[in-house]
Amino acid sequence: MDTAALRAADRRTLWHPFTQQRGWEDEEPPILIEAAEGTTLIDTDGRAYIDGVSSLWCNVHGHRHPLIDAAVRDQLDRVAHTTMLGLSHPRAVELAARLIDLAPPGLTRVFYSDSGSTAVEVALKMAYQQWVHGGEPQRTRFVCLRDAYHGDTIGSVSVGGIDLFHHAFAPLLFEAHQVEPGDVEELAAVLREHADRIAAVVLEPLVQGAAGIRVHPPGYLRAVRALTREHGIPLICDEVATGFGRTGTMLACEQEDVAPDLVCLAKGLTGGYLPLAATLATEELYAAFLGAFEDLKTFFHGHTYTGNPLACAAALATLDVFEQERTLERLQPKIALLRALLEREVAPLESVAEVRQRGFMVGIELTDFPLADRMGHQVTLAARRRGAIVRPLGDVVVLMPPLAIDEADLRRLVEITGAAIAEATGAARSWARAA
Ligand code: PMP
Repeated sequence: MDTAALRAADRRTLWHPFTQQRGWEDEEPPILIEAAEGTTLIDTDGRAYIDGVSSLWCNVHGHRHPLIDAAVRDQLDRVAHTTMLGLSHPRAVELAARLIDLAPPGLTRVFYSDSGSTAVEVALKMAYQQWVHGGEPQRTRFVCLRDAYHGDTIGSVSVGGIDLFHHAFAPLLFEAHQVEPGDVEELAAVLREHADRIAAVVLEPLVQGAAGIRVHPPGYLRAVRALTREHGIPLICDEVATGFGRTGTMLACEQEDVAPDLVCLAKGLTGGYLPLAATLATEELYAAFLGAFEDLKTFFHGHTYTGNPLACAAALATLDVFEQERTLERLQPKIALLRALLEREVAPLESVAEVRQRGFMVGIELTDFPLADRMGHQVTLAARRRGAIVRPLGDVVVLMPPLAIDEADLRRLVEITGAAIAEATGAARSWARAA
């Protein structure tokens, strides 16, 4: 099919995620990405774009990395998929050992699944079921943060706090106490009052991604860990967005020396190549599921593509590249450069209310525009025309480039973003003046 036919067929047959299809059908023709090289995406017309959001926050070392490509090809010559239910395979075992090595101390068991949502779903179910085994089945509630986002399945939505995404499903959800991020006193009060009804506390460590890159005050994660320990309640850290270098360290938890009871990994785990997720658990939590079969302590959960061998091979190669290319070390000056560029070119813009950054996660909050203007979206369209793919969260423009981006492209990405904000918001102002 040529590009025009593909575009027509897309509009006729597809239903895109998080997309108002009416807008999709009426707007500029969709871009079809056909190829990529490093941190550049190439469409079916041969136009190039900087991958400014790492293909939804997951690409790490760039596209078509020779080492990851080779690892996937090599695995393809062996077997593409087998099952983890009743069988095992070498790459799954090797990867588990590597993940345990890089995780905070005490996390010694790896349970695979295939998306960030399922990694969280698994953690919630593990946390609850271990209480059932411990004779406390009344612990049906979770504590989560306001504006949290942990995925789109019903369990992960239950511990989510983004009204726009979640309110339609409210009647379907289980009970969760939402507390204000950064407010240690509020969490302490909830834990005191409801301690014997709570299964676990779940949060995104250091920074809430989908909330609009909201950065927590220093020490908050450590304080949450201390409180949960005091009450004997498991702490689940959702590192789906923050993991694999995003905040400047391999995992965000490291920065506050926190060892959670459960850690959720996905996105960057395979370098952004293939769907794979992992929920890491402590030995104590794992042990709560051991027993004779008839004790019914089995964790009855497992997806068809759980621990897929191609994905595990991509993940192992991704970890190798971290070492070979000293990715985290080389990232530090880029984080500083990104901060300087944002300060110079984006923060001073009249229509920018705030720029938030943690490592290689950036949220640029625009000043108040009417919802119907979809200003964040207008900015991304303007950026696209200038050669960068960025994606907003409402009126927060997100930048989350692959860790491998070079200095020149990082400069160009920020330049394009600044120009796109000025163009889109400037146009809105002159319409407003004319009207
Ligand atoms: N948790 C966090 C913190 C996330 O940012 C996301 C996705 N953006 C998820 C969970 C869900 O991951 P997935 O889209 O792979 O289901």
